Amino acid sequence: MTQSNSYKTALWQQDLIEAITDPKELLELLEIDLELLPAAIAATKLFPLKVPRGFLSRIKKNDLNDPLLKQILPLGAELEEVFGYEKDPLKESSVNPIPGLLHKYSGRVLLTLVGTCAINCRYCFRRHFPYEKNNPGTAGWDRALEYIAADPSITEVILSGGDPLVVSDSLLQTFSEKLAHIRHVKRLRIHSRLPIVLPTRITEEFTQWIATVPFKTILVVHANHPHEISTEVKKALQTLSKVGITLLNQTVLLKDVNDNAETLVQLSEALFDAGVQPYYLHVLDKVQGTAHFDLSHEAAEQLHWEMSQQISGFLVPKLVCEQPGAPAKLPLLRREFYTG
Ligand SMILES: *Cc1c(COP(=O)(O)O)cnc(C)c1O
Ligand code: SF4
Repeated sequence: MTQSNSYKTALWQQDLIEAITDPKELLELLEIDLELLPAAIAATKLFPLKVPRGFLSRIKKNDLNDPLLKQILPLGAELEEVFGYEKDPLKESSVNPIPGLLHKYSGRVLLTLVGTCAINCRYCFRRHFPYEKNNPGTAGWDRALEYIAADPSITEVILSGGDPLVVSDSLLQTFSEKLAHIRHVKRLRIHSRLPIVLPTRITEEFTQWIATVPFKTILVVHANHPHEISTEVKKALQTLSKVGITLLNQTVLLKDVNDNAETLVQLSEALFDAGVQPYYLHVLDKVQGTAHFDLSHEAAEQLHWEMSQQISGFLVPKLVCEQPGAPAKLPLLRREFYTG
């Protein structure tokens, strides 16, 4: 590495570069039986392994049931082709007017700035998404911005991915400056798992940028288990909360990770402590290779109802699923649970 590069690379970018990608190293660091290695290697051929080193410190060693480990460990089960699980269950290719842009719901567009993430979550609904083809790159931004400028009904731009916070602060700045020219855009929403899995990302420079963009700004983080909310994560989130960013969280309901009311209640409490409002609890999208994480809608509704009976209403996220063609995420509602 040259001198100039080493001083330009921020600590979080270094953390990204140094993420674990070798299954053998992961198993060794977490003291997991190497018998699992061949299956892990096979699974990474379909969807690579990627975990920031800092995330490992939140995982218990030699414990295959650790809820954070389950989210990142490549397993043989991912290779099974299960009936009903598809590669593109959301049919996103059909709502993709130009590369990197999804216009599915009224008033808002979703823009993928990059195809990569800081972590590869094994349950990810984009594990088969053609990122390379659909990554607009900075050159493609102009086409996306033209599309947004031409449609005054678009009042909110959602940056998603991949993970938009993998992008450098200077690129985020360039993007938001261009976006600011479009008068009808009122809100900028960022969906990112970085504040949770790589809290070093929340630098002073980033905080400065997000606090001063000329939009109402919403950051939707993505945490699935209370163990993910470490002291550093809490600090990073509180910093953003203090500068006036609306912080929301979405969770994916995952079998043997967070499929009990106690865990979900603790997660909501930990998030709210950190200044984050629970937003969505998603039922898993039926993506090939993730069937072992899935729960029935009935089980999801039961859990959600149990949760609702234990905490304040505003701490209970909306239980939703995604349905191709539907004009919004669909709520799951079970009124029949209460017959009293
Ligand atoms: C989820 C999603 C949104 C945002 O939906 P909200 O219900 O407003 O959070 C927007 N566009 C796409 C393509 C989505 O999948
Ligand atoms: S951070 Fe989100 S988009 Fe990236 S792998 Fe995880 S679930 Fe998928």
